[in-house]
Amino acid sequence: MMSYKQNSMNDPAASLGGPVGAYPSKHVAPPASHSLPIVPQIFPPSHESALIDSFGRIHNNLRISVTDRCNLRCTYCMPEDVVFMDRGELLTFEEIARFVEVAAPLGIDKIRLTGGEPLMRREMPRLVCMLARIPGIRDIGLTTNGLLLADHAQALYDAGLRRINISLDTLNPERFRQVARRDGLDRVIEGILAAKRAGFEPIKINAVSMRGITEEEVVPLGRFARTHGLEMRFIEYMPIGADHWERNKVYFAHEILEQLEKEIAPLVPVEDYDPRAPAMEFRYTDGGGRVGIIASVSRPFCASCNRVRLTADGKLRNCLFALDEVDVKQLLREHAGTALIADVIRKNVMAKWEGHEINTARFIKPIRTMHAIGG
Ligand code: SAM
Ligand code: SF4
Repeated sequence: MMSYKQNSMNDPAASLGGPVGAYPSKHVAPPASHSLPIVPQIFPPSHESALIDSFGRIHNNLRISVTDRCNLRCTYCMPEDVVFMDRGELLTFEEIARFVEVAAPLGIDKIRLTGGEPLMRREMPRLVCMLARIPGIRDIGLTTNGLLLADHAQALYDAGLRRINISLDTLNPERFRQVARRDGLDRVIEGILAAKRAGFEPIKINAVSMRGITEEEVVPLGRFARTHGLEMRFIEYMPIGADHWERNKVYFAHEILEQLEKEIAPLVPVEDYDPRAPAMEFRYTDGGGRVGIIASVSRPFCASCNRVRLTADGKLRNCLFALDEVDVKQLLREHAGTALIADVIRKNVMAKWEGHEINTARFIKPIRTMHAIGG
């Protein structure tokens, strides 16, 4: 049942494989009277101070990078000869918590901790505890490469973390070394099993899909996830790493879905689909679990983007691909007032452009690579 190819308004993936959306130049400001109904107002702001951009998108989701360090060197993410930030550059946990205390009353209620590798930072359960106590924060997630997870899964769970994404591109040790430029597959698997034992549910497995590199991994990973009660999430390879990116290196969402349906079981879009989530979610019709696809290249989700990012060195970015960022570390270190920091956040969100331009000749790759932004 290839239902993701049907042309239905309710089918989140109906246009997979179709032409990609083209965005107007990010350098052109939207008209003042812009009335594009880009975001369905399904989550109206509960208060006047909600973080809304000039396209009407409401922002409730904050990604916090806690370090740019990593124990892997994934080719799609960072260069091998990377120079990491000085530790003194990193926001302290107290500074991160202060930022969140200011952002929460503006409507931020969902946080994802990331990096670099977030578990390279000591005492992460303490940060989870600090953030979980902030009024208004209802959801804290973590994205990790899993290498250190076996040692920390239980403490993170006990601290209040419930949502975890573990990155795993392949089940083949050679391929793992090729992609991550380091060994570690066994430790990632141990980390996944430890997360299960600790009680995390669901556990999502992120895999970057690259033509000719991880293409062959789609079906083994799909089967692995079904066997262990995990949710696979395939992410189209984006131009945000150190390597030269080309469109033909992306293994596209519709190709992934075709492989899974051919080799495993038919998929249909889930009924409880969240239109603001980046992943299009499908379920196997035989009851064998779910698959998410993040089709950032073939089906950009900028029109419903609700995310802002705080880098490990305290820069606020309104888009993964933003070329500008605002320094909030200095404000935090100078103990600036809540109103001033809130104003900086609001202005940063308001200045957000309509969408990334990966699919246009205008695309400009940010200077920071993924590990230094926070994925
Ligand atoms: N180190 C952690 C990890 O790997 O899960 C967290 C940080 S990592 C930057 C977050 C996510 O970004 C990972 O799932 C990774 O696979 C993904 N990612 C990194 N570079 C990417 C790229 N060029 N295209 C698509 N996804 C990418
Ligand atoms: Fe490290 Fe994650 Fe980047 Fe891989 S994707 S190099 S694990 S930060």
